[in-house]
Amino acid sequence: MAYQTISPYTNETIKTYDFSDQADIEKALSTGHELYKKWRNGPLDQRIDILHKIASLFREREDELATIAVKDMGKLFKEAKGEVELCALIADYFADHGAEMLRPTTLKTIATGEAEVLKHSTGVIFAVEPWNFPYYQIMRVFAPNFIVGNPMVLKGPSNTPGSSDVFGKIVLEAGAAEGSFTNLFLNYDQASAIVADPRVQGVALTGSERGGRAIAKAAGENLKKNTMELGGTDAFIVLDDTDIDQVADIAWRTRLYNAGQVCTSSKRFIVADNLYDEFLTRLKDKFAAVKAGDPMDASTTLAPMNSKRAKEKLQQQVDEAIKAGATLYYGNEPIDLPGQFFQPTILTDISKGNPAYSTEMFGPVASVYKVHSDQEAIDLANDSHYGLGGIVFSGDPDRGAKVASQIETGMVFVNNFMSSLPELPFGGVKASGYGREMSQLGIMAFVNEELIVKAQKPDLSNPAGGLVAL
Ligand code: NAP
Repeated sequence: MAYQTISPYTNETIKTYDFSDQADIEKALSTGHELYKKWRNGPLDQRIDILHKIASLFREREDELATIAVKDMGKLFKEAKGEVELCALIADYFADHGAEMLRPTTLKTIATGEAEVLKHSTGVIFAVEPWNFPYYQIMRVFAPNFIVGNPMVLKGPSNTPGSSDVFGKIVLEAGAAEGSFTNLFLNYDQASAIVADPRVQGVALTGSERGGRAIAKAAGENLKKNTMELGGTDAFIVLDDTDIDQVADIAWRTRLYNAGQVCTSSKRFIVADNLYDEFLTRLKDKFAAVKAGDPMDASTTLAPMNSKRAKEKLQQQVDEAIKAGATLYYGNEPIDLPGQFFQPTILTDISKGNPAYSTEMFGPVASVYKVHSDQEAIDLANDSHYGLGGIVFSGDPDRGAKVASQIETGMVFVNNFMSSLPELPFGGVKASGYGREMSQLGIMAFVNEELIVKAQKPDLSNPAGGLVAL
């Protein structure tokens, strides 16, 4: 697909970008590879300063960056500003803590000598990223790997090229060496060829199950370590002792934030029978109160979806769900604006055979289920081939946490929103992918943990020596 900024609010094509050619690709890989060799045994100090500088530039240019993201994919300006600030937080965090995380660790062993695990960089990382958070998704991979010493080549999404482009410019403006981060506009064949290139030592994809399967296949064929951050149908469980006022104030936001286009949006509300009717009424009231409009306008609370294609796909999913027996509890009416708006919609009575039961709806559509016990809630939450995040609400946080621990998923927040922060690991299980980004776990994704065992002289009496002799 062509790399284009088409405003989903005005439908205007703002800018089209040329595809990268073979020379661009070769330059990105060769400068990245040379830099990796230079960085591998060198000091970190300069990269720490540069990463702090990147954080400062994100903050200084928050309005400009947020405006670019709004033009690219239509999110609310205030949400785009929040995303820019989160990028700065991530950059500062890895600049402050990365060196400590990469310190060698000492192991106790019966082997003769001192055993130490060093944390080395491995080479160029190829990242394939989506449009829903057009800066944050890139920063999650870039910041830790910059500190590790892994240069990054990016295939950004075709519909938010302005954001990927300015990200690369900021990295250079902060003083990073050429090759530290290269944004390329690639087609799928070029992307697969980059995965296969021997200079690339790690592959990180965030996106759909479909995109994940394609890139993971290429990575597997080429024995490249990879992390997959894919889709989800996250459960939001409301236990029977929940304060309905608290939950009502949060539930609608967890579905409508970023126009419902978040991997960890609450897509399935699983509600105890005693609260079900009241929960539905409150959710409907909140959904009905949103104001669709210009995403740059501070009074707008519902942004358009990111593209015409995305809106059409969601419409088709809702139509199919209703055809298969779901009840339309609220919404699904056209919004009389030219942009790609989708009215917040609530579906109930979704049976197991309904496609809506198991597929991800990436937009402002909530599925609400009634359950009669904690166990039924857990079983329903787990009856999904995804397992990314989740939320549990309970009057008793310990009871909530006990339920949370029984959900087959990567992350659960009890009695609060899900938040993504640099110190918390991010990632899922099952078809939501594997590996973690952010935190200590994330920075280790593409690190070579090299074991060094240092002895003064050989010791043939050591029983473990027999294994060495084999
Ligand atoms: P997508 O279609 O998979 O696209 C994501 C990226 O992968 C884009 O850069 C896309 O390029 C590229 N891509 C797709 N197929 C490819 C292929 N065969 N070869 C090479 N590159 C390929 O996903 P999306 O629809 O944009 O994003 C929404 C999905 O991402 C949702 O499922 C959401 O849940 C998931 N997501 C997950 C996380 C997480 O952390 N787990 C975070 C955000 C979003 P083009 O743009 O050129 O097609």
